Amino acid sequence: MSTTTAPAPYRIQGRTGEWEVVIGLEVHAQVASQAKLFSGASTAFGAGPNEHVSLVDAAFPGMLPVINRFCVEQAVRTGLGLRARINLKSRFDRKNYFYPDLPAGYQISQYKDPVVGEGELEVTRDDGSTFKVGIERLHLEQDAGKSLHDQDPNWTYVDLNRAGVALMEIVSRPDLRSPEEAAAYVKTLRQLVRYLGTCDGDMEKGNLRADVNVSVRKPGGPLGARCEIKNVNSMRFIQQAIAYEARRQVEILEDGGSIDQETRLYDPIRGETRSMRSKEEAHDYRYFPDPDLLPLELDPDWVRAIEATLPELPDAKRSRLMRQYGLSAYDATVLVSDPERAAFFETAAKGRDPKLVVNWVSNDLVGRLSGEGKDIADSPIPPEHIGELVQLIEEGVISSKIAKTVFDRMWAGEGAPRAIVDRHGLVQVTDTGLIEAAVERLIAAHPDKAEAVKAKPQAIGWFVGQVMKETGGKANPAAVNDILKAKLGV
Ligand code: ADP
Ligand code: MG
Repeated sequence: MSTTTAPAPYRIQGRTGEWEVVIGLEVHAQVASQAKLFSGASTAFGAGPNEHVSLVDAAFPGMLPVINRFCVEQAVRTGLGLRARINLKSRFDRKNYFYPDLPAGYQISQYKDPVVGEGELEVTRDDGSTFKVGIERLHLEQDAGKSLHDQDPNWTYVDLNRAGVALMEIVSRPDLRSPEEAAAYVKTLRQLVRYLGTCDGDMEKGNLRADVNVSVRKPGGPLGARCEIKNVNSMRFIQQAIAYEARRQVEILEDGGSIDQETRLYDPIRGETRSMRSKEEAHDYRYFPDPDLLPLELDPDWVRAIEATLPELPDAKRSRLMRQYGLSAYDATVLVSDPERAAFFETAAKGRDPKLVVNWVSNDLVGRLSGEGKDIADSPIPPEHIGELVQLIEEGVISSKIAKTVFDRMWAGEGAPRAIVDRHGLVQVTDTGLIEAAVERLIAAHPDKAEAVKAKPQAIGWFVGQVMKETGGKANPAAVNDILKAKLGV
């Protein structure tokens, strides 16, 4: 069923031979919460500068953080979705550094004891094949504010709307080996948090973004020194940044240089990465447990209750669709990419040939919808009608060709397919007497062609075409074939 053929390994060709790229990602996913991690201020997008800032977010003296239970729940939910260990005891630390958009002078994060420990994600490529990536941890932390450098020629302004918003940082093991694998990992992770409802995955708004760690080595050799490319916020940029960075490192190493572990930025306009800060200037964050917050202790019953509310997750849904309906990995992957599409398929497929249904849903219907920039939720055709259309084909009432005409009329709002077929007289001719008469007439008129078929049975196609023409495309092709074969003796 599932053909998980691993693609050829990604290699960079250098002067001294081939190189392998090693990638590990730190994904920041904003918790889909209406309030911030330690204050009641709103997280709504698009407000005017500093409209959503509480005294806690602005770090006024004497203000105390209060943990948002909902955010913790979303982190646990995501950890369960990653099949990761949930740490019933975790802690918040202060990560100390000075920056104008961080008024407290420290970020509250989880350093030694994160709320979620090791897990594993099964990543799906576009073709439906899969591979596994180790998850090191998931921890909760605050987002920082934003410095605005483009408002005034002499001044920098600060917008604290984002300060204190809850982020889940999901850290992968260095298990990824190509730009495509890295993008597939982020796609799969994004799909998971969207299924779980813990993050909206909106990369354009920066609600999901990745720090990309890249190193190179000779295939199978020891891990090389890595560079970290900060805050990359599109699948395309992730791939471009990795390809550029890996090539840059290979060139340095082949020239006899070494890689300095450093933080870099990706510039999508120039298509290159640039140094932000080197290891020598690296921060010493002086982590220590935040004295204003108690250690986080979770009740195992609470964790179990959260687990009981998890929806069917993408990888499980995909395997089930393959098993239950005999779909290919590719077809199942396409359906799972949108839970509404999968649900639409399952409703339409009740009691029908699933392979036919998946083609009508994923090709005809989705193709038409995306042509108009619409989702399956906007479909003018309900799933039951797609099911009925497939039933008409299965029963031999209409041919697949006529079904396209019926589909066009359904799309145009003419209603249920059976009624359309009746109204427009589109019923397929299965009257064998009628087909036989046409066949006999054609054989008599074209004895040469009939002889040709006896010598070369594939030539029967010409007769099939003629019968279809005579019946206005409505003859049942299977019946036409059977009758032709009988009459021609092939
Ligand atoms: P830090 O806290 O300094 O960022 P971590 O150990 O947490 O360091 O690693 C951060 C990320 O770097 C992880 O996603 C990990 O998979 C990745 N990583 C570690 N070593 C390498 C390497 N040699 N090449 C590429 N990525 C790496
Ligand atoms: Mg890091």
